[in-house]
Amino acid sequence: MGMAINQLPRIREECEVLHLSEKQCREIMSRLHNDLVKGLGKDSHANSIVKCWITYIQDLPNGKERGKFLALDLGGTNFRVLIINLGENHFDMQSKIYAIPNHIMTGTGIALFDHIAECLANFMKEHDVYEERLALGFTFSFPLKQLGLTKGILQRWTKGFSCSGVVGEDVVQGLKDAIARRGDLALSVMGILNDATGTLLSCAHKNPHCRIGIIIGSTGLIDRSYSISIRNAASSCLGTQDVQIDICAILNDTTGTLMSCAWKNHNCKIGLIVGTGSNACYVEKTENCELFDGEPGKSELLINTEWGAFGDDGTLDFIRTEFDRDVDNNSINPGKQIQEKMISGMYMGELVRLALVKFTRMGLLFGGRGSDMLYERGSFYTKYVSEIESDKPGDYTSCMEVLEELGLSHATEADMAGVRHVCECVSRRAAYLVSAGIATLLNKMAEPRVTVGIDGSVYRFHPHFHALMCERITQLVRPGIQFDLMLSEDGSGRGAALVAAVACRQREA
Ligand code: BGC
Ligand code: MG
Repeated sequence: MGMAINQLPRIREECEVLHLSEKQCREIMSRLHNDLVKGLGKDSHANSIVKCWITYIQDLPNGKERGKFLALDLGGTNFRVLIINLGENHFDMQSKIYAIPNHIMTGTGIALFDHIAECLANFMKEHDVYEERLALGFTFSFPLKQLGLTKGILQRWTKGFSCSGVVGEDVVQGLKDAIARRGDLALSVMGILNDATGTLLSCAHKNPHCRIGIIIGSTGLIDRSYSISIRNAASSCLGTQDVQIDICAILNDTTGTLMSCAWKNHNCKIGLIVGTGSNACYVEKTENCELFDGEPGKSELLINTEWGAFGDDGTLDFIRTEFDRDVDNNSINPGKQIQEKMISGMYMGELVRLALVKFTRMGLLFGGRGSDMLYERGSFYTKYVSEIESDKPGDYTSCMEVLEELGLSHATEADMAGVRHVCECVSRRAAYLVSAGIATLLNKMAEPRVTVGIDGSVYRFHPHFHALMCERITQLVRPGIQFDLMLSEDGSGRGAALVAAVACRQREA
């Protein structure tokens, strides 16, 4: 590098716009609090931005759930089919990842559900459970207005999905129809739920005394006649075929994360995802949920906040940058999921790339010489941010590898320091935004000690995200409130199995 001028101070200055002060965080918290209250309120819900959807969970696990369950996990980095064995004190799980090609993500709903049903059928054949009657939990990580455990109306697609004909429709029905079209699988339907719900159930599975409040809504919609008619149809097509699936529940990944964490940790009352998307669910007092129409008597219930939509009405404009506006304008859903676009893995790498492009054009990086890759949308993966920040201070091994992949092997050490600084600013802002959200929930819940069950690629793989969150939340919560941040193991799978298990137990009762 020799004589190059150190541009790091200028880069730092330019990155100031990405800094969130404690004061700004507090402002965000007060705005989010207002939005949560609006989402919960009967008269304000229709026009609210943060919807605070009610989930329908009848009961907590009682620790006696046993057996084999199927789960589908759609809406994270991968689409997976899982088979989970709930045992005495452990889970066995096998799963397979299936690609969702881009033409399916943005094609028709019919094609999407046909694809899911096909993957499910193949998986069942491979795992030799084609002839068993298995309960299925469907982790569907998009905003759903739930009308029951097995009925959820899609409100909007997020995270790059845009299948036609699904918004406004019942997603479980979509899957049922696809299974019926195949004719080789038969099913019945028991419940649809959110993933935070799954986590709560997970707790009670281990501890029958676990009394974390859950929404007691309408009973799972058991559609036996449907099951029988499809089974008959399948039998008449295929002779002796008698395969059956019970769709026991549909749930969100935050719900599953909460459940999965609560299985071991009875304080777990918040489920958080910082992955491809961003969202949280939490335990709310029933009296605060004006839209709750289920059975009275239980004092708490689980709310899927869908906080990724926070800011869609301009409420976060005071902290948004040109990079955020660029990401949003070039997304498949402009104006939607504004908070999510400032935080989550689907967008974080692109935010960094846009800043790097700007600084290159200003002559602050790479001697003003970019590369074709650098100027290409989506070429800077979010995992690069984690890799670059994993380098020890003064070491740039991963950073160099990333820059070489991007055709920037002419980067100097000063450039690498600049690139790392940009990554740090973008990821720190994400961690602080998430922290403001969690602190808002903690203050609202006003419980002395709450565990937050967390999953998602950003939280899991970023080297400092956890520490940044601990530090910022500590600053932001009211004195006397304690919290733990806990990685939740596979809520989308384990949580789905627990929710399905509880739904089955209820049906049999
Ligand atoms: C979806 C949520 C989901 C989150 C994390 C968001 O885009 O709207 O339902 O929980 O991503 O996967
Ligand atoms: Mg997941």
